[in-house]
Amino acid sequence: MGILNTQKHIVPCPHCGEDMLDHMKSCPHCKKEVTFAWSREPRSQNKIKATRKYLYVVSAVVIVIFLVLKFFN
Ligand SMILES: [Zn+2]
Repeated sequence: MGILNTQKHIVPCPHCGEDMLDHMKSCPHCKKEVTFAWSREPRSQNKIKATRKYLYVVSAVVIVIFLVLKFFN
């Protein structure tokens, strides 16, 4: 599990092409500074989607509660 998780984050260095981990700020092979903005982007978009889905569920529940209260009044 731990090994698989580490392999998942191995990415080629944009400068020398050697394997490195995506959380590293500099390449261990060529020592150049590396930023992985491209690898972080999809994760934050997924988080936004998840938040939107959560908001839809919450608003749906609020509407149902509102209708139930209206029905019983
Ligand atoms: Zn490198």
